[in-house]
Amino acid sequence: MACAGAFTLAPEEFYVADALILCQGERVTAVGPRCRLEGETAGPVFDLGQAVLAPGLVNAHVHLSLSHTAGRTELGRGFLAWLKSLVPLLREKPGRTLLSRVAAGLAAQGTAAAGEIAGRWTGDVLEALAAAGVESVSLLEFFGFQGSGTLDWPMAAAEIPPERLHVFGHALYSTRDTLLQAAKAWAASEGRVFSLHLAESPEELDFCLTGHGPLASFFAGHGLLPADYRPPGLRPVAWAEALGLLGPGTLAVHCVQATEAEAVLLAATGTSVCLCPRSNANIHVGRAPWEAFLEAGANVCLGTDGLSSNTDLSLWNELRYFRKRYRGRLDLPAALTLVSANPARALGLDTDYGAITPGRRAVFAVLPPDVLAWSREEKTRP
Ligand SMILES: [Zn+2]
Repeated sequence: MACAGAFTLAPEEFYVADALILCQGERVTAVGPRCRLEGETAGPVFDLGQAVLAPGLVNAHVHLSLSHTAGRTELGRGFLAWLKSLVPLLREKPGRTLLSRVAAGLAAQGTAAAGEIAGRWTGDVLEALAAAGVESVSLLEFFGFQGSGTLDWPMAAAEIPPERLHVFGHALYSTRDTLLQAAKAWAASEGRVFSLHLAESPEELDFCLTGHGPLASFFAGHGLLPADYRPPGLRPVAWAEALGLLGPGTLAVHCVQATEAEAVLLAATGTSVCLCPRSNANIHVGRAPWEAFLEAGANVCLGTDGLSSNTDLSLWNELRYFRKRYRGRLDLPAALTLVSANPARALGLDTDYGAITPGRRAVFAVLPPDVLAWSREEKTRP
């Protein structure tokens, strides 16, 4: 395959101009300048002309099973208003046609793989992703204060290929701490990903610190919070750390309420961080300290979250939104790592995705013209 350029994101040759990418079956076997590799292939060459390629994108956090809620939730009025509008819709099943269309849209936007929060309509969601050619990392959700706090695998686990099964603890405010610990322990022992929504809203902060506030009232009102429940009186990141939930193999999603010091702590523990900037803005929960996470050297990824809180599942749009509002320099290669190399590492996919190098899967994204133009902007900056 020939193209005008390829962001390989490999440390030794981050960008190759006038590139040739050689593939065998589904894998890349070589990548380099056309003049160097031309003699090494006898096979047909597909010339993509002026296209510039990046590794297939990886969406670190998405809820495909909520696709039917698009445009039907309360946005802009804070977390509780959004949650209240979402809960009744959880009983509805997204149609297979809709799931197919949404999954095809992911693929059309250059998404090669997605960390899908699994547990609802799992078979249908996985079928739609497979038909669209999008690799799924199924993060099976654990939720609630009921039960003994041990891992009680839901039926959906049987629908997930064992090698793609990972775990997701819904949140500190919604899920028994011992259950979260059991999920993390299982993931650590099996070499799987453990993920959770962490420090998303001011209401979550209130809940963790005091055990009161609108979230506590909402969960208690639905009989989901034990009457004798007592929170630890810690901020969410500190609580997650105290429970042993952080560290390599953990993907913390949102982290909007994290302080700069907590961003440093998350980075130091090796926890990956998934930012969902448009979802956070739409729900109106605030803005995460993006710059602090990047400056601290955390493995930062972008995720779209679901259509319950976002207008689309395009990682290009997520990246456009993020870069426009980022306070500081975010050059094109650094921006691309947020939607490819970093999420691939966070989801344990980095032997297959996240770079255009020999051995990885031959799945690529074409840079949209406006994104490509960022590199020209950077060159003309003083
Ligand atoms: Zn989510």
